[in-house]
Amino acid sequence: MYKVDYHVHAKFSFDSTTEYLDQFNAAKEKGINDIIFTEHCECNLESATPPEMPIRPLFDHEGYWNYIKNFRDTSGLDFGIGLELGQANQEPERAKMILESHEWDFIICSLHNMRKEYDFSLLNYPERDIDKTFRDYLMEIYEIAEQNLFCVLGHIYYPLRYIKAQGFDLDYKKYDAEMAQILKLVAQNGKGIEINISEKSYNKSKEDWNFHLRYTKMFRELGGEIMTTGSDGHTPDAVGKNIDDATEILKEAGFKYVSKFRKMKPTFEKI
Ligand SMILES: [Zn+2]
Ligand SMILES: [Zn+2]
Repeated sequence: MYKVDYHVHAKFSFDSTTEYLDQFNAAKEKGINDIIFTEHCECNLESATPPEMPIRPLFDHEGYWNYIKNFRDTSGLDFGIGLELGQANQEPERAKMILESHEWDFIICSLHNMRKEYDFSLLNYPERDIDKTFRDYLMEIYEIAEQNLFCVLGHIYYPLRYIKAQGFDLDYKKYDAEMAQILKLVAQNGKGIEINISEKSYNKSKEDWNFHLRYTKMFRELGGEIMTTGSDGHTPDAVGKNIDDATEILKEAGFKYVSKFRKMKPTFEKI
């Protein structure tokens, strides 16, 4: 069974201090066949920072590229160099400029905050209309799907992580029609989705399993062929974690292959 971890953070992400070599070795120890580093590159920091928090400088994609390319060349290790591009729909010119700046192996597009809103992890759900929040989120995800800059669409269930963490149980099945529109467009464009099996939203329960299975299956039924799996690990302990489960979910959904990426092009590895 070929296993990929294509959602890996390390020290160039603002929320990790892990060395690349430590992430690489930890993933290999867990039997991961191929990894791609996907550091956070948020396109819109000014509008998404609460007033009491300092605005982080924009991601230094040049510094990251130079550092990790040099590390790959000098170490001789085989891994991919990618980005998790956040909110590309809100700053499309900046997103395109970053994408065209280097020969990336893999791009995930994610949405961590909506226009003029803070990260979903910072929202106060008891004060909000959660149904509207989730619908608005899916509309922005649709914009990202239309923009079509990515290899895979990242953790499409992201707000549910934090809605659940604040004690609300949103029935995500209510949004199947919106989800299907997004997945259909991604499939038609020949792009993929990831199973983001982050420990923040997956606790090995049947409920969590079914949640990933539902949309993986839906994507396949809508003609989707490209799937990747990712731990969203920021530390050696988390990298590669639950990738076995994610790969099993892929199989249960009817996929026979996981996609391997280099230079933005997929090949298919048997699972
Ligand atoms: Zn993310
Ligand atoms: Zn991530």
